[in-house]
Amino acid sequence: MKVALTNLVKRFANSDRAAVNELNLVINEGELAVLLGPSGCGKTTTLRMIAGLEQPDSGRIAIAERDITDLAPKDRRVAMVFQNFSMYPTMNVYDNIAFPLHAVKMKRGEIDRTVREVAALVNIDHLLERSVRQVSGGEAQRVALARAMVRRPEVFLMDEPLSNLDAKLRAQLRTEIKRLHQDTGATFVFVTHDQEEAMTLGDKIIVMNKGDIQQVGSPHEVFFAPQNAFVASFVGTPSMNMFEGMVSADDTAGYRVLLPGFELTLPARFHNGLAKMTGNRVIWGIRPEAVRLVAAPGENTVGGEVELVEALGSRDLIFVRAAEQLFGVIVDAQASLAVGAPCHLHFPGAQMHLFAADSERSLQNNLPPSVPP
Ligand code: ATP
Repeated sequence: MKVALTNLVKRFANSDRAAVNELNLVINEGELAVLLGPSGCGKTTTLRMIAGLEQPDSGRIAIAERDITDLAPKDRRVAMVFQNFSMYPTMNVYDNIAFPLHAVKMKRGEIDRTVREVAALVNIDHLLERSVRQVSGGEAQRVALARAMVRRPEVFLMDEPLSNLDAKLRAQLRTEIKRLHQDTGATFVFVTHDQEEAMTLGDKIIVMNKGDIQQVGSPHEVFFAPQNAFVASFVGTPSMNMFEGMVSADDTAGYRVLLPGFELTLPARFHNGLAKMTGNRVIWGIRPEAVRLVAAPGENTVGGEVELVEALGSRDLIFVRAAEQLFGVIVDAQASLAVGAPCHLHFPGAQMHLFAADSERSLQNNLPPSVPP
């Protein structure tokens, strides 16, 4: 079912800024949409308004073109899974999953079939008789998923359901949520502040900050073509190298950006965006994965020295001191670069990002995302 939010506003009494500010968003039928942003940006409030647990001050919410803004939560055909899921401790797993079905007076045989079917889908069919006091954190989240699924909701709302789990279990459950999404064909709205989780799960990522949507796009779009400096710095681990500088026009080289201690020639795709920007402040950025180590100095290259090495497994994150700045660079672990090693960093024009310093908007003219390195 399609979910449409129109001019949604929520302001809490004790705050001078809106928790959710004129939010407009369409999540298409069958999509897995992820609301991503730092703590306090309004993700949970948005989700709770869709669930009907929070009433908006203004704006409308529609599911499948039907306005549900004033409907009670139970009439919305949505199910919500929370981070801190509470179960009925005196009941076993089976009864916890069956509980919402007793509440709607479903027949016993049908309840039994539904509970077993759903439990099998989330791989807990062997735990049905077990007391919920005796299940692990990961199993408890599966019980939560199963309990949300039994009423066959058309929209699943998930508020950081995996954040209490260890890294391995999280990755495993993420895959299962993706599979569940494919198997059910339902619309999912998933909230997280973890950009890696958002990237691996989402078809559509909605990046939020301070109650506003910053960008809506595929994982590739928000990573390779961030529309503003906030999205550029929030999405991606390790974060983008970003420096503030000034645009200068050069008769022979076109536009250049003067950065603290170094300067670079900007590729032609920025030229339209820079037409009236000479002398203006900009934020220039490049991702650690996009910086190249080269053997000799050249165009858009700075020389420096390795200051720190962090092993990431097959790759290393090295920090290079060059032109008095510190650059994060991802290199193949085989490169075996040691602290103190001299090196030259090259910044390929195709991978550069540029934002106006005042508005923080991208100066890239909405070009399609550049190809991954
Ligand atoms: P987190 O990841 O920490 O859960 P979030 O992005 O989900 O953050 P929200 O919980 O939606 O953010 O909160 C948005 C803003 O609204 C925050 O500034 C928060 O302090 C405020 N807020 C949320 N719920 C309430 C409430 N019941 N009363 C007052 N203020 C609230």
